[in-house]
Amino acid sequence: MSKTVALCVSGSIAAYKAVEVARLLVKAGVRVLPVFTESASKFVGPVTFSGITGEPVRTSMWDASFPGEMHVKLAQEADVVAMVPATADLLARLAQGRASDLVTALALSARGPVLVAPSMHPRMWAHPSTTRNVATLRGDGLRFVGPVDGPVASGEIGMGRMSDPADIASAILRAAEPGDLADLSLLVTAGPTYEDIDPVRFLGNRSSGKMGFALAARAAARGAHVTLVAGPVAEPTPPGVQRVDVRSAEEMRRAVMHARAAVDVVIMSAAVADFRPDAVSASKLKKSDGAPALRLTQNPDILAELGQSRIGAAPFLVGFALETGEDAAVIAYAREKLARKRVDLVVANHAAESIGKEENRIHLVDASGVETHGPAAKGALADVILTRVRGALRGEAPAPPAPSL
Ligand code: C5P
Repeated sequence: MSKTVALCVSGSIAAYKAVEVARLLVKAGVRVLPVFTESASKFVGPVTFSGITGEPVRTSMWDASFPGEMHVKLAQEADVVAMVPATADLLARLAQGRASDLVTALALSARGPVLVAPSMHPRMWAHPSTTRNVATLRGDGLRFVGPVDGPVASGEIGMGRMSDPADIASAILRAAEPGDLADLSLLVTAGPTYEDIDPVRFLGNRSSGKMGFALAARAAARGAHVTLVAGPVAEPTPPGVQRVDVRSAEEMRRAVMHARAAVDVVIMSAAVADFRPDAVSASKLKKSDGAPALRLTQNPDILAELGQSRIGAAPFLVGFALETGEDAAVIAYAREKLARKRVDLVVANHAAESIGKEENRIHLVDASGVETHGPAAKGALADVILTRVRGALRGEAPAPPAPSL
């Protein structure tokens, strides 16, 4: 059945990109109802939006020719209300629950998901007022698409750039067809980390990132909002996933800590390097100087830090345990990790069955016991893990041992 989206445009330079979002939605068979804030028309023309959508642009609640209450009627028709772009001012007014114009009144009367795609200067995004408003709005159930790190209108670079129109359109389409994870925000880490020795050499590992990318792809396809923190890997970004590329364990830690407050679930599938060189040589180590004695230092354990610093049960933490040895020993390691890192679920797998492979075999280890799945495609196992997380968050006990995939 065809879906209807109210596309609310506010006054930001990025407003011109909302035209592309409207076009992509129309192309996907969606009926788009364009709504402008007072200042939006200073940036884009209503004629462009009505031309693309075939619908009139609404700006005012006080249109005498419109029968009934416009915000209530539009909210009734819209399966999704999307704010593209959402300025700092619009976020502030939404956080206050105001209904001072058609856009905010529509957000208050929405019967389905409300999506916001913020766009502002990085200092405005980083301001404590905006941080507070964003936290309030997330708590109220509004879904955020971006912003992303990149060039902004002033020519500076930073967090505040509106997400790409294609990402916004796909998030809107996903919200219109809610999957079973549509109310969840996930942070997934994937791949190895590289620990530099000098400008050309590093310590790394053989993780391909395939399991983490499969988890991110499946979670996004099931409606979750997914941030993927990826080490150096060759995998393409799954559709609808926000990707943050990192190199070292320290960079991964920073990215995870930055994102963790806004997520319901963290899945640490990355093979984080346990050690890094004590110091990175600024110049290439010379062969003529003989073999260097590499001194190593311990990397931060990101997962353990998340487990130790969380207050209450959020976010739900999933760790991976990649081991060599017999099943019993692998499961024993996983149990030990579950307790020591204070996580909710450990996915244990064998290095020989997992690294770089399309398929895998996993043991899901939590406080209630162990469940083994596979060999199966990593995508199928990703679904098994996500279903388990979904169930745990709903307070459901794990299903009785299912026939192995
Ligand atoms: O202790 P071990 O490395 O076996 O634990 C594996 C789990 O811990 C994985 O989920 C991995 O992503 C995470 N980890 C981490 N930081 C490290 C090492 C591992 O978050 N420095």
